[in-house]
Amino acid sequence: MQPLNTIIPQLDKPRNVVITTHQKPDADAMGSSLGLYHFLTRFGHQVTVISPTNWAAFLNWMPGCKKVLDYESAETKANAAIEAADWLFCLDFNVLSRTKRMESKLAQARGERILIDHHQEPQVAVFAYGESNTAKSSTSEMVYDFIVASGHADKIDEDIAECLYAGSMTDTGSFRFPSTTSSVHRMVADLKDRGLKHSRVHEELFDNFLENRFRFIGHVLTNRMEIFYEYNTALIAIPQADLIKYDIRTGDTEGLVNYPLSIQGIKLAAIIIDRGEERKSSFRSKGDFDVNTFARKYFNGGGHYNAAGGFNKEPLEEVVEKFKAAMKENAGQLSTYKF
Ligand code: 5GP
Ligand code: MN
Repeated sequence: MQPLNTIIPQLDKPRNVVITTHQKPDADAMGSSLGLYHFLTRFGHQVTVISPTNWAAFLNWMPGCKKVLDYESAETKANAAIEAADWLFCLDFNVLSRTKRMESKLAQARGERILIDHHQEPQVAVFAYGESNTAKSSTSEMVYDFIVASGHADKIDEDIAECLYAGSMTDTGSFRFPSTTSSVHRMVADLKDRGLKHSRVHEELFDNFLENRFRFIGHVLTNRMEIFYEYNTALIAIPQADLIKYDIRTGDTEGLVNYPLSIQGIKLAAIIIDRGEERKSSFRSKGDFDVNTFARKYFNGGGHYNAAGGFNKEPLEEVVEKFKAAMKENAGQLSTYKF
């Protein structure tokens, strides 16, 4: 994998470009993709953004979001764009399997794959160029760095600023996680100077939910949350029937895992959701418990030190039992906590 910035001298030559990201994109995945989309179109490139799946409605306000192809509902068009692409940017993920059904198409593409990502253990062999940097707060910050390094920061307008701000703000937990470096704050200051209206971004992302989501959260916290004080661990397991009853859509469960994590003494919080086709889990930790390793070892997943996820094919009850066994296996690290 050649360094990402070696493509900078080639930016002036118009190409067919695809930008893609991980399934069920979050605000960083979508924000970094659309920020890069707006930047590259300014050079005359023909750019198509493809998401492997649908996404949360609270991302639809992002400038350019309406043009994003959902691979599951626009497969023919998306495949044509992948086949025609000279460059395929892969943003906010680092193993092709995170694009689900797109994986084989991406793997066979004739164009060069280019990685921009901040997760651990990248599949470097499949990328011609790229940057993988786990010290970065967000992929959106990495796209900002790339734009600045290219010498074209003047191309950052309000649209690009909103997309990149949304990604870095959400991936840093509103600038509270340790990944929030002084560089992140300097980037935000620069985006403000270039027209960013940050209050609008917060309102669009956090003040736009429907009543059913809050009824659902009330139900889940009352009836589906278990606390294991001896292990400083909390678990929420959600059967598919709950999702149907409360009409839960993509994105409605995002952030739910943070509620138990904010309970005094809780070091590991987990949520396991029965999505029908698979059981999706999310793990969050405070302090010195490494959920990236935990998710890799037991739940076919990965992520970051304090935030990771995975999935299982087994029924929900079995995944819950697996979680409890894994928790007990890790009692040595969980039972004694030092924040
Ligand atoms: P979330 O719990 O919000 O889905 O994901 C938390 C973090 O872990 C994100 O950075 C996400 O990209 C990563 N992650 C979630 N699920 C998986 C997975 O199945 N595999 C890998 N490698 N990473 C995941
Ligand atoms: Mn990210």
